[in-house]
Amino acid sequence: MKAIRVYELGDPEVLRLDELPDPQPLPGQVLVRVHAVGVNPVETYIRSGKYGILPSLPYTPGTDAAGVVEAIGGGVTRVAVGDRVYTAGSLTGAYASLTLCAENRVHLLPPRVSFEQGAAVNIPYATAFRALFQRAKAIPGETVLIHGASGGVGVAATQIAHAAGLRVIGTAGTDRGQKMVAEQGAHHVLNHRESDYAEKILKFTAGQGVDLILEMLANVNLGKDLTLLARGGRVVVIGSRGSVEINPRDVMSRDAAVLGMVLFNTPEKELAVIHAGLVAGLENGTLRPVLGQRFSLSDAARAHRAVMEPGAFGKIVLTP
Ligand code: NAP
Repeated sequence: MKAIRVYELGDPEVLRLDELPDPQPLPGQVLVRVHAVGVNPVETYIRSGKYGILPSLPYTPGTDAAGVVEAIGGGVTRVAVGDRVYTAGSLTGAYASLTLCAENRVHLLPPRVSFEQGAAVNIPYATAFRALFQRAKAIPGETVLIHGASGGVGVAATQIAHAAGLRVIGTAGTDRGQKMVAEQGAHHVLNHRESDYAEKILKFTAGQGVDLILEMLANVNLGKDLTLLARGGRVVVIGSRGSVEINPRDVMSRDAAVLGMVLFNTPEKELAVIHAGLVAGLENGTLRPVLGQRFSLSDAARAHRAVMEPGAFGKIVLTP
């Protein structure tokens, strides 16, 4: 099989296309023929060595792919050879033409969802679902600020929150991104690069503030976020690339809560809940992953540069 291998941590150029023997599924494992791979920011942090838990070298990056079941190991009952699936974790890495997964890490991909869209499901949609419902306990009728709605997680959160009956304010940094966020169901769209967007949020909520914030860049925004919350408001810190100063009084005076999350910490039972919800949303068409740039597998280095650039527009995928 073809696979991207990382022999040393560093710049995107350490992502090298290699030829490896095809993996064989053991009992409880599923081998997937990969048609598309999702590229997530976390894979760039790991590749560059700037992440808490690092794999032993060499390794193949990635957890998110979509394709067709090529072979199954003994005892596998969830899927059969020939099924279309998306993956939510991989034993051998997703940046490859074949990927080996534990049975509970593959989920059926409804016919209306393309392989490229399937590759855009796992990390973005599972993170958005967990942030909204399992961490912040969002309820219909609440107002959510999706702070960074134009990227993978933001688009997912916008669609999920809209479908669940929340009032959605989404932000993006470009006109193109703002237009797309509106198309995905945000009721109000703002540009986080403009100086007066916080005042606009307060105006939109008649001075009350928002019930929830899903924050993609906490090191820049958390201090200001706390001043935009309604009483009992919750911020979920999803992304952060540095430290930040906050005024604890902004949390106290609102009976507010700052909640962190890392998807990889999710207990197995809650992951099952998340993917049951996502598959249902993909089936009924409320969840429609938006595709941005596409690269071939051999161009993984370019994809890693692109995912860290400003001006996000949906999801970056690789095709083997
Ligand atoms: P992405 O596709 O690259 O999108 C990044 C988003 O952040 C875009 O919407 C971007 O908007 C926005 N952004 C840029 N500057 C901003 C600012 N000043 N204020 C608010 N938003 C801003 O990345 P992603 O896959 O959606 O992930 C988003 C972040 O969450 C990343 O840091 C990622 O590592 C993290 N993440 C964490 C978890 C977890 O388990 N905790 C899971 C998934 C992702 P423009 O480009 O339009 O300006």
